[in-house]
Amino acid sequence: MTTVKSYAAQSAEKPLAPFQLNRREPGADDVEIKILYCGVCHSDIHTARNEWGGTMYPVVPGHEIVGKVTRVGQNVSRFKIGDTVGVGCFVDSCGHCQNCEEHLEQYCENGSSQTYNSHLQDKKTITYGGYSSHIVVTQKFVLSVSDKLPLEKVAPLLCAGITTYSPLKHWNVKAGDKVAVVGLGGLGHMAVKIAASMGAEVTVLSRSKSKEKDAQELGAHHFELTTEKENMDRLKSSFNFIIDTVSAEHDYNDYLALLRTNGVMVLLGVPPTPSAVSASRLIGGRRSLVGSLVGGIKETQEMLDYCAEHNITSDIELINIDQINEAYERTLTGDVHYRFVIDMASLN
Ligand code: NAP
Ligand code: ZN
Repeated sequence: MTTVKSYAAQSAEKPLAPFQLNRREPGADDVEIKILYCGVCHSDIHTARNEWGGTMYPVVPGHEIVGKVTRVGQNVSRFKIGDTVGVGCFVDSCGHCQNCEEHLEQYCENGSSQTYNSHLQDKKTITYGGYSSHIVVTQKFVLSVSDKLPLEKVAPLLCAGITTYSPLKHWNVKAGDKVAVVGLGGLGHMAVKIAASMGAEVTVLSRSKSKEKDAQELGAHHFELTTEKENMDRLKSSFNFIIDTVSAEHDYNDYLALLRTNGVMVLLGVPPTPSAVSASRLIGGRRSLVGSLVGGIKETQEMLDYCAEHNITSDIELINIDQINEAYERTLTGDVHYRFVIDMASLN
């Protein structure tokens, strides 16, 4: 065991605070990583505050990790000390179910091991995430990261990037498609950049007028305020694909009405409470309401390579770890432009 520094929440009500964490010694297939940067995903907040239930305290959040390899086990062939690497939302899976065989580890039928607040495949050892100085991960779940792009801006690709890239690919969004992105936060701004890079005509649907100029700079072609009823009426039957990244309860029916015939709305945001959906909204127009969870390891590598090739990174605000609680509060009020990333050097 190596004791490392981290930040943890001890309960749903308490702010995150310094915590000493034990990491395993790297085994034969393991890579030990010194974490340089870790993005702050809204899922970290949902989990730290137990909004989805099931949080195991103390919890060390963080699943947008970029760092340098510091040690490798004897079977590790893909990485060497000093390599730049990333870790996303998963650190292991069973490896033999049908989904794992099809590179869909995130849907592992035997339960994937999430990067934090989850269990390793022994189903006993609790996982702790990236708000820490080091992490040890089995090599299959470690991603190669190009040194061409600024690493602090690459970190959010490990969750926000893949979570938006994967459904755009799966539902075959192509040049000329009319795509709407609901909610301009961490996921939303990556959805705008990636959909625009694929040639889609992108509209941001936001409740924050202050984000209009940013939306255009991020690559959106249009910006519409969802708080104005006239806008929502005018936009009926407009879009082929809607990416919903909203983290809080909202009425899906309002957005389904904006889909064209055969249109698809993918839910990425995970509000803690369920929401009623009107059958007639789906039936009238043969619309689909679907969901998607991050992406598999192979696809995450593909996305990282795609972003390096197309010069796509996240727009970030770099913070020190002792600003994490303030960053959570600002994320909750929508005051994030467009991802907080922790400079892990501040942990020392
Ligand atoms: P975020 O940065 O906080 O962005 C969410 C955005 O949603 C806000 O910036 C805001 O945009 C909008 N919003 C928030 N509350 C709203 C409300 N009450 N009504 C309408 N709009 C609201 O969060 P994030 O990190 O992008 O994560 C978004 C959600 O995705 C979270 O629930 C997270 O847990 C989930 N998530 C899912 C996956 C997956 O695999 N499916 C992966 C990662 C995260 P505007 O100001 O523009 O309206
Ligand atoms: Zn995330």
